[in-house]
Amino acid sequence: MGVSENLVPWDFTRRSVRPHDVLVEIKYCGICHTDIHFVRNDFGMSAYPLVPGHEIVGVVTEVGDSVSKFKVGDTVGIGCLVDSCRECKNCKDELEQYCLNGATYTYSIPERHGDGITYGGYSDQIVCDEDFVLRIENNLTLAEVAPLLCAGITTYSPLRYWKISEGHKVGIVGLGGLGHMGVKLAAAMGAEVTMLSTSPSKKADADKLGAHKFVLTTDEAQVQSVQGYFDFIIDTISADHDYNFYISMLKTRGTMACVGLPNTPAQVPAANIIFHGRSLSGSLIGGIAETQEMLDFCSKHNITADIELINIKDINNAYERIEKNDVKYRFVIDMATLK
Ligand SMILES: [Zn+2]
Ligand SMILES: [Zn+2]
Repeated sequence: MGVSENLVPWDFTRRSVRPHDVLVEIKYCGICHTDIHFVRNDFGMSAYPLVPGHEIVGVVTEVGDSVSKFKVGDTVGIGCLVDSCRECKNCKDELEQYCLNGATYTYSIPERHGDGITYGGYSDQIVCDEDFVLRIENNLTLAEVAPLLCAGITTYSPLRYWKISEGHKVGIVGLGGLGHMGVKLAAAMGAEVTMLSTSPSKKADADKLGAHKFVLTTDEAQVQSVQGYFDFIIDTISADHDYNFYISMLKTRGTMACVGLPNTPAQVPAANIIFHGRSLSGSLIGGIAETQEMLDFCSKHNITADIELINIKDINNAYERIEKNDVKYRFVIDMATLK
């Protein structure tokens, strides 16, 4: 796709299958807000032509000679990473997303070996090293699995890192693609989950997703009732907002993990964290092993994303609707409509 206002069809050829590669026929690809940021070059790092998409699910159609983990016909997923250096401390610790030599993201990044840049999942095929391909169990609806590859792991990883389990009180800020997965995953881990939202209309939705409580953050009394309340908060908001408002809801030694990327740097008075030993933290997707663990967890607990399946010809309209927050909660492209 080219540098234009709208996404347009573009023909290109994938690299040929190397000994450790698998060729995947893409069945579905989720639409992440990051895709829109890259198409619009909001981070100033987009390489064009740009093929977005890092919530990819499909079926293996060819394997290289040395591939041992997959065979033709396997249902698989590919998320935000397609390679990393594999030698640095973080790669050795299964934290490929934090590769010290720069992880290879699924699109708009120079290919690690060879020329050209990576092209993502709004496409009928992808070639990927088997070490960055995930196994998907067949008990879940495949289109609904796609968003787990980014939105799912982005919320799963911090919940696991901070060992969230039964007895913990977890707050989720923002009910979008990330937030709705955060609610489902935290509830499945046994936590008491509270949805924090500015919109009263979200209460019914939050209940349906499995939230135990709802706090309307424009209501002073409700906000007062959760001061010093949470063990852990996931803040999924990517619009500019006041972190302190939510940090004050953490109990002593509580942690807030940010997974949204606001444009303006936040101001956090040290006193608000020091006097209660609170932590403000960040988290980026997850490593490959942890992403597999998340998919297995979702398979076991029957967790998928709530999606709206679209024809790829409606992609530009979908982008407009995402920018207006008008989606519950993830658009997924049906790649059969590409033909
Ligand atoms: Zn994403
Ligand atoms: Zn590395």
